[in-house]
Amino acid sequence: MVPIIQRNVGWIEVICGCMFSGKSEELIRRLKRALIGRQKVSIFKPKIDNRYSKDHIVSHSELKIHSEVVENAREILERSLESQVVGIDEAQFFDNDLVEVCQKLANMGKRVIVAGLDMDYRGIPFDPMPQLLAVAEYIYKLQAICVICGNPATFTYRTIEDPNRVVVGANNIYEARCRNCFQAPPEGRKEKQAPAAQAEKVTPETPPVEES
Ligand code: ADP
Ligand code: ZN
Repeated sequence: MVPIIQRNVGWIEVICGCMFSGKSEELIRRLKRALIGRQKVSIFKPKIDNRYSKDHIVSHSELKIHSEVVENAREILERSLESQVVGIDEAQFFDNDLVEVCQKLANMGKRVIVAGLDMDYRGIPFDPMPQLLAVAEYIYKLQAICVICGNPATFTYRTIEDPNRVVVGANNIYEARCRNCFQAPPEGRKEKQAPAAQAEKVTPETPPVEES
């Protein structure tokens, strides 16, 4: 997919889609290949996403790769100065600074691979993903399987009522659904964001993955 690369050219790749579409799997696959190629790789995820592991990115299919937890996007810049490849998961949990950070890293000649939810549970674009998609050189939109009808799914349906935008959880409270089977929640399209500290009130059903 990525064409022949001249040396010292950086770029941004964005992997997006709904929950269960395979974003983390795809990110892990790309990063593992970079490691096989003996490239210097840094991998980050936001502090809020501690669902399965504090120091690994873990996919729903239990693929995993070591990662560092950061409080904010600026920390990514500070911690990846020596890296050739920078991987970032759950980009939708960062603020808009992430866009400038990714741009800076790419301008420094690094390959930046970012994965994140492109829409929230209401079907509304999830900042800063739209901004990242606009400035990325390469975009990969993945689909899950709709749990209702089996068609390709692009929406994340929340099965519980909660007006907060961020409620961390997995298969116990979220389902992948296609456009036909998705319904926006009754609270409508009002923007209401939860502070990070409140957001982790729903415990995921999926058991934690054993570290090895
Ligand atoms: P994402 O990061 O996009 O949430 P993951 O990479 O963590 O996705 O997980 C993808 C995996 O989730 C699939 O390979 C499959 O094993 C599992 N999965 C569970 N439910 C679904 C679904 N409805 N559609 C597709 N895959 C699903
Ligand atoms: Zn459907």
